[in-house]
Amino acid sequence: MNQVVIIGTGPAGLTAAIYLARANLNPLIIEGQQPGGQLTMTTDVENFPGFPEGIMGPELMENMRKQAERFGAQFRTGWVNRVDFSNRPFKLEVEGMGEIESQAIIISTGASARLLDIPGETENIGRGVSTCATCDGFFFRGKKIIVVGGGDSAMEEASFLTKFASEVTVVHRRDELRASKIMQDRAKANAKIHWSLNCIPLEVVAGETGVTGLKVKDQSTGTDKVIETDGIFVAIGHHPNTGFLQGALQVDELGYIAVKPGTTETNIPGVFACGDVQDHKYRQAITAAGSGCMAALDCERFLEGSAVHEWSQSL
Ligand code: NAP
Repeated sequence: MNQVVIIGTGPAGLTAAIYLARANLNPLIIEGQQPGGQLTMTTDVENFPGFPEGIMGPELMENMRKQAERFGAQFRTGWVNRVDFSNRPFKLEVEGMGEIESQAIIISTGASARLLDIPGETENIGRGVSTCATCDGFFFRGKKIIVVGGGDSAMEEASFLTKFASEVTVVHRRDELRASKIMQDRAKANAKIHWSLNCIPLEVVAGETGVTGLKVKDQSTGTDKVIETDGIFVAIGHHPNTGFLQGALQVDELGYIAVKPGTTETNIPGVFACGDVQDHKYRQAITAAGSGCMAALDCERFLEGSAVHEWSQSL
């Protein structure tokens, strides 16, 4: 019988694994289709403390994994198809592993950035296409950038990117923005931000050195055109990776797992959530790692029988 199973191997899950392995709780970690999570899709990570020269995303994740293995964490590849949190031990139906049982569960399955699903997009991630302005904006100092999207994220990313870029063009598929008025007003007041509304992205145009443009269908004229750019930030939303839970845990209004504020406790005692699957606000590797540490400590206390769970009744 497992004491604790961690689902997901981004910074949150791996940090939880390091702490729980060092606490001799022998965590079993289930890694899915994208081991290492979103950081494995980035290049240089310059804002994770401890690396003055920066570190490549995949290398950072490999290091975290090795660190967990050094203390005895066990990794298995599998896809969780079904969960049963109705009684302890909890049960997980894992493809390729069958049913496994555990006294506690930590969910760190992350969130995925929505992509446009157009030609040239995925192959140019890290070559000019990005889904994270905080992570990659710095690399576009003095360059032209496109932000795709019309929601609050797009407004926020466009405003943030004007710190680096010579100009930012917001490309949105309708002539009306979805973003809140305050965010729109702030972006519209920024002289560095230009607007290509009513333009549907069709294709990422790239050369040998990376992205050179975005081909769009301009619905006002009915013609296709290429907007020249050095970088394209896709800001059309994220979705938490919670499908496998099939409603087994309470979620917030955006579908992220609800946790008791200031903790990683879900509405089921013994089930914890950390990282982007419960955080649509910060979404940083370091905040995910921090919440992974919190989940490990919350879990340890729970397994020692010292946790107080009156909150779960009031969710
Ligand atoms: P969102 O509100 O769902 O907006 C997504 C935008 O992307 C929409 O404008 C949508 O176009 C566009 N889009 C979606 N799929 C597309 C596609 N395939 N091709 C082209 N465009 C596409 O997502 P969000 O901006 O990430 O915001 C999510 C939530 O977080 C919201 O509740 C938001 O208020 C909140 N948020 C708040 C802040 C803040 O307050 N500081 C910052 C960021 C996010 P349509 O408009 O045509 O549907």
